[in-house]
Amino acid sequence: MEQPDINDIPFPLSPVVPNLVEGDKVIQFQCRKGIDCWNACCSNIDITLTPYDVLRLKNRLGLSSGEFLLQYTLPYELEPGGIAGLKLKPVEGGSACQLMRPEGCSVYEDRPTSCRYYPIALLSMRKQHATTDTAAYAVVQEKHCHGHNEPRSITVDDYRKEQGVEIYDELGRGWRQLVLKKKSAGPTIGKPSDRSLQLFFMACYDLDRFRLFVEHPSFREVYDLDDAEMAQILGSEPELMQFGFRLIRQVMFNEESIPMKADALDKRLSRKTEREAVMDEIAAKVPPEAISRVDPNDKYGIKD
Ligand code: SF4
Ligand code: SF4
Repeated sequence: MEQPDINDIPFPLSPVVPNLVEGDKVIQFQCRKGIDCWNACCSNIDITLTPYDVLRLKNRLGLSSGEFLLQYTLPYELEPGGIAGLKLKPVEGGSACQLMRPEGCSVYEDRPTSCRYYPIALLSMRKQHATTDTAAYAVVQEKHCHGHNEPRSITVDDYRKEQGVEIYDELGRGWRQLVLKKKSAGPTIGKPSDRSLQLFFMACYDLDRFRLFVEHPSFREVYDLDDAEMAQILGSEPELMQFGFRLIRQVMFNEESIPMKADALDKRLSRKTEREAVMDEIAAKVPPEAISRVDPNDKYGIKD
């Protein structure tokens, strides 16, 4: 298998060096109740959340996205001074997952992507000079996990099916592509404005707040969307999330897929400034609770 450029792997690797494999690779692994390492993996967590993970978990817990972010997550920088990632926040003063119970995961049906994949890691990467990203897998063997000693053989593809990752992969792809694109673009797109970084955070992770943002009449003073398109975007959370990815691509990378009203822009402004001006114009009109605030101590605006 062709090895990817390690710099293209978007997420920090585990301290355990993984072996890259393809979907037909047979692994020996089973996690089952009664195994002597039960819950060891959930007792010391480092779990990156995708936007779809947040959507599923906040609904499972009956929380708004803002409440979920405050209670269960920690933002971090996916690149210095750049876009934000999100991790599950462990219990106060410890390293265990807040959602772990003695009998196992309390949100099992809605557990995050990386919990489903474990002990496999999904690596979304772009090979040098390639225009599209490809998925590759890595098997991570950690000493605490005794599932590797269980007498069950299964291919990576069948394990993915068994763990229900397909819908998670499908709905997480737009976000992974954004992260890859931002990282591989490097300094060529310039440093994103605080407003762009906040849009990224809000559209990816704070979906209820993003809904208020899109629903506000000011949004349609800038973007030329008819009633049917708005109904579709607002009709389901996955649709709204995917629309958010499109909006981010438009604002951060100038990939226009959402038509804009001609009179919404001041033609004298440069292209980049123009995009930021649009965000500022919308932000100036929407109610304060509908957009993350610029606060140097709370860069991603998740505090009340
Ligand atoms: S969400 Fe569930 S599976 Fe994932 S670390 Fe927490 S308890 Fe474990
Ligand atoms: S077998 Fe591995 S995944 Fe299953 S409970 Fe033990 S440590 Fe966790």
